[in-house]
Amino acid sequence: MTDLRAATLPYAAPAGSSRPRDRSSIRRTNLGVVLRILRDAGPRSRAQIATDTGLPKPTVTTLVAELVANGLISEGSAQREGAVGRPGTLVRIDGRGLCGIGVEISTSYVHVLALTLGGDSVYEHRVAVAVAEAGTEEVLDLTAQAIRACFTALGRDGIRPVGLTLAVPGVIDTAAGTVEYASAIGWRKVAVAEGLRRRLGQPLPHLTVDNDAKLGALAEYVQTEGSDVHDMVCITGERGIGAGIISDGRLLRGSTGFAGEVGHMPLDPRRTPCACGRRGCWETMVGLDAILRLAGTGDGDWIHDPAVELESRLGEVRRRADEGDVRTREALARVAEDLGLGLALLADVLNPRVVVLGGYFTHIGHLMLDRIHEVLRERVMAPDAGGCEVRLSALGFAAAARGGAHLALDAVYQDPGAV
Ligand SMILES: [Zn+2]
Repeated sequence: MTDLRAATLPYAAPAGSSRPRDRSSIRRTNLGVVLRILRDAGPRSRAQIATDTGLPKPTVTTLVAELVANGLISEGSAQREGAVGRPGTLVRIDGRGLCGIGVEISTSYVHVLALTLGGDSVYEHRVAVAVAEAGTEEVLDLTAQAIRACFTALGRDGIRPVGLTLAVPGVIDTAAGTVEYASAIGWRKVAVAEGLRRRLGQPLPHLTVDNDAKLGALAEYVQTEGSDVHDMVCITGERGIGAGIISDGRLLRGSTGFAGEVGHMPLDPRRTPCACGRRGCWETMVGLDAILRLAGTGDGDWIHDPAVELESRLGEVRRRADEGDVRTREALARVAEDLGLGLALLADVLNPRVVVLGGYFTHIGHLMLDRIHEVLRERVMAPDAGGCEVRLSALGFAAAARGGAHLALDAVYQDPGAV
């Protein structure tokens, strides 16, 4: 069973309170247990919840009543598919009146997305902006404006945000809400949480800041629910390349939170200069700029034009490849080769079951997958690449914002009583 708890526990565990001390905290803990069973295992009867959790049936009845009263779950009479015997009353996640908000500041856009407790998208909006060129203050102004528009729309629909997570492509001090260093957008020591609080005023839902690749990996991991995949490497595909790593069902952060900065592995023999100040980084070979540079014909080629929506430019690359354009096909082959090289290294170290390619790869990655799999089989030490399968993300550029919304909602699953 996919367990988001395990993946998000490092963020969401309440400080020093893992052991309930009194009746009221035991009840709050048990509310979370019931809610998480319904999230992870789907709708079920009270009797089934009692069996799954080991809690006495009368206790489950009381807990379910409280969760129903708070609008977090609802009751229906449909019997579970395939079940036999007398139809029982099933309870399921509801929470239509609550949502988590994820906001991604990417290299080329700001994306705002809200999910209800049940995972339904209730708001989504993206603003195109060249973040590195625009400067910190302007981007934070724009982000605050986008969040305010989201609050207004949710308020109109009677939906209350319980938390807001900001995703940024860089190294984040999550406790301080500060971007320590984000080479892809040129930010260093930017107090984003404070900057947004100042702009948005009070009261705000709980605001956290985290790395885009890590949040993207959480969203991808939630998507794989029901499967046996608990070891994943999720690669972002923008100007910068980062990895969110799920190892044995847990998000890997490393001792100081830098785990997954794979875009700066020194793999390029041509030693191309990187935005980080070094030379030869992997993202100079396989990032968005690399594919557009290799595929484009120069200054007059509109696939370089940042004013044009990125999806349209990638659609043009796809169209040229489908038409057999030699330059485009060679560019895709080059990037597939170099992508396979780096992924093989990661597969040797982490032995993932699945590698998910996100961002721009979701638009043109299908033209590279065969070669990537070949390179993996050639380069990875383990037989058959250690069983590693490379897939394209179904979430694309929305993954980090979705992961942010999931993380914001996880607080409800950890402590439903606090809502
Ligand atoms: Zn670099």
